[in-house]
Amino acid sequence: MERAKKFLALRGTTRVHCEAAGTLDYPDGSEQDEPAILPCAEGMSLSHPATPQLPIVLTIAGFDPSGGAGIAADLKTFATHNCYGIAAVTALTVQSTQGVKSTHLTPAVTLRAQLDTLAEDMTIVAVKIGMLGNKANAAVVAEFLDSAQIAIVVLDPVARAQSGGTELIDAAGLKFVREELMKRATVVTPNVAEAEALTGMEIKDVAAMEAAARKLVELGARAVVVKGGHMEKAIDVLFDGSEVLHFGGDKVKSPNTHGSGCTFASAVTAQLACGRPLREAVLLAKAYVTKAIEKSFSVGKGPGPLNHFYRFQQEPPARGVHEVPQHGMHPASEPGVRG
Ligand code: PLP
Repeated sequence: MERAKKFLALRGTTRVHCEAAGTLDYPDGSEQDEPAILPCAEGMSLSHPATPQLPIVLTIAGFDPSGGAGIAADLKTFATHNCYGIAAVTALTVQSTQGVKSTHLTPAVTLRAQLDTLAEDMTIVAVKIGMLGNKANAAVVAEFLDSAQIAIVVLDPVARAQSGGTELIDAAGLKFVREELMKRATVVTPNVAEAEALTGMEIKDVAAMEAAARKLVELGARAVVVKGGHMEKAIDVLFDGSEVLHFGGDKVKSPNTHGSGCTFASAVTAQLACGRPLREAVLLAKAYVTKAIEKSFSVGKGPGPLNHFYRFQQEPPARGVHEVPQHGMHPASEPGVRG
């Protein structure tokens, strides 16, 4: 453990902690010699070893054409965690970084066909559920979970877009999520607004987040993470039916948080698919999201997405070390030179 910490301290780090799961200094991944598996605390590693057979992980969610949230965020997150991502699309949204303009739901029969076709063809290790749109699509997902019997199910009960407040599920759908889908999930990951909508409670502080997590378990969830990323202290609260854990960490100041809820739930799914226990999966997912926000950049006029692939990006070389010629052309083709 000591050795691992020193190893990580060599790099730029983001710190997250949980009283039971430990402290994790998460590397920024800018080192070229970063190994596939980074030790970080006893029995923990940051990524799945690269094997020819990656775990197949399914996202059931909406499509955000700006690439920040929904299916696109989920698939990028799976890929960077060494999982093979597949997707069933519940809705096509019309949106940019400036907000959601409209949503167009996939007919329930088409969603069912996507799910059945994928499940007939592949062995799915884990499922992440995001935007569902309406009750009909939520019911198709419940039927699918009952027939496919997938061991790991992460339910992100997406209710509305942060950007414009657009509803991403109707009232009947949200009721179905509360009464039917929550009990089919390994873990449910609402943000504060979603936890309020599901419990009817007002959540202003960590104590209320904890109370809401307990209420959701009473309502049938096996485990709940209430995400406090937008609260003053960025603490996430996990209740697994027996123990409450708080996950604290660096609060990163950045407008680029679009899709952070989707990304967190997808990172938890990928970590569970790679065999990690829930509390470790939550700690690693929080660290990943924190770092991806820290390394984010703007892509449009509104709040940008996370930088999901920051670990693959290298710092530019110091000037003069690998200087690239300005023209990059053969001298003979430069102006004024005749062959
Ligand atoms: N899923 C889709 C398709 C969306 O468009 C959005 C937000 O716009 C979300 C999920 C929720 O995103 P976030 O992770 O920011 O809560």
